[in-house]
Amino acid sequence: MDITGSTTGQLLKAMQSGSVSAVDVTQAYLDEISADGETIGAFLTVNSEGALAVATEVDRKRSRGEPLGRLAGLPVAVKDNICTKGLATTCASRMLENFVPPYDAHVTTQLLNADAVIIGKANLDEFAMGSSTENSALKVTRNPWDTDCTPGGSSGGSAAAVAARLAPLGVGSDTGGSIRQPASFCGVVGLKPTYGRVSRYGLIAFASSLDQIGSFATDVTGAALLLETLAGHDNRDSTSVDRPVPNYSATLEQPLTGLRVGVVSEFFGEGIDADVDTSVKAAIDVYRSLGAEVSEVSLPHTKYAVATYYLIACSEASSNLARYDGVHYGHRAEQFENMIDMYAASRAEGFGAEVKRRIMLGVFALSEGYSDQYYLKSLKVRRLIRNDFDLVFENVDVLAGPTCPTPAFRIGELVDDPLKMYLSDICTISANLAGIPGVSIPAGFSSDGLPIGMQLLAAPFEEETLLRAARMYERETDWHRKRPSLG
Ligand code: GLN
Repeated sequence: MDITGSTTGQLLKAMQSGSVSAVDVTQAYLDEISADGETIGAFLTVNSEGALAVATEVDRKRSRGEPLGRLAGLPVAVKDNICTKGLATTCASRMLENFVPPYDAHVTTQLLNADAVIIGKANLDEFAMGSSTENSALKVTRNPWDTDCTPGGSSGGSAAAVAARLAPLGVGSDTGGSIRQPASFCGVVGLKPTYGRVSRYGLIAFASSLDQIGSFATDVTGAALLLETLAGHDNRDSTSVDRPVPNYSATLEQPLTGLRVGVVSEFFGEGIDADVDTSVKAAIDVYRSLGAEVSEVSLPHTKYAVATYYLIACSEASSNLARYDGVHYGHRAEQFENMIDMYAASRAEGFGAEVKRRIMLGVFALSEGYSDQYYLKSLKVRRLIRNDFDLVFENVDVLAGPTCPTPAFRIGELVDDPLKMYLSDICTISANLAGIPGVSIPAGFSSDGLPIGMQLLAAPFEEETLLRAARMYERETDWHRKRPSLG
């Protein structure tokens, strides 16, 4: 069996039938990871020993006929801003380079209870701030489709790991597109659930009112299966919502008759790459051919989304990151003159340039005399953005458009132009501001052979419709079956 070329569904079946063991599966992925060396560089920590121990336990349980969780024996790449007890969790920052959490994040516990195998901790932009994984202080991650390109970000490690078949599943976090954008760049499925669907307990905070954990897989079925495991109420996160978790993977194949698809005109605006435009329009035609009712819709406040997002995200980040002072948390400088100097030196050494830029922006936006003009105003615009969605979802079930205006850009191309980098988030960030779920699914390739993603969005807690609509498209196409030929 071609283990690493299989989908999660095929792997689960093979393990259930006994044709392969969980140890075989884990070992096959570990072998891929070591064969990759640092070509892709998806992982900050490879959990070889821990992963094999869990896989062995899964095989033991199976041989005794004990009940097994829904991800039994499936390796998962977990973004390195999600706490894993006893396993380094660095946020790709010098600040937390030596942090080994004494506890598990809620989603880590959920994965372990589902008998999943945490195969490693995936690279990211430092503290999840970025769109290319280039802001990682610890390593470079490359796009499996073209190693001169970035995998996107900030969950670039998780997306690249799934695309390069170094793990069948990945967990990421999405504050402004950090699951959907790298999924689009790497040609995999990436799902950001509704705010509150998944507990953020143990996710190292970037912007708490926007952060949400979600799933990566090579297909919609895998992403749905993983969401079922991650989702659910947890009273350690006060924003986690107490609603039953539907059995997403069970309803996935049910036909969606009379689906109403809204095409967001603002997402096809200025700056959209011609190949992206063509591919996503062709993808929307697939819905038409399947009998969906397709109409054009407008989200008029989209033009304010980037500015609003960066004000809110940086404001929250400046507050969340205040705790890293070398005393409460994080790296402590060795050379300092007094206590204040120790704080300053620790933060100066521990944080990278992008994190510092955002802390400064946030502190400014919240400062006395300016906070009404910036922070408060951005909260008001956020409400208008949410209203736009509420209004269109009265008439459509899902919204469709590109995930990102362009395919993957080259490593180094945008690092000196933060504003241009921020603009690459134009299609993804509104969903975080509004708290709604979104998914990116493979929908074609550029003339250079780089993947193109289509984004679908749905109303709050409509993940079931979202996933069924995604699966409806996936069934008709084979973009998700394409694999990068590495080297
Ligand atoms: N690219 C966005 C940013 O830089 C989103 C990051 C994220 O979703 N974590 O903030």
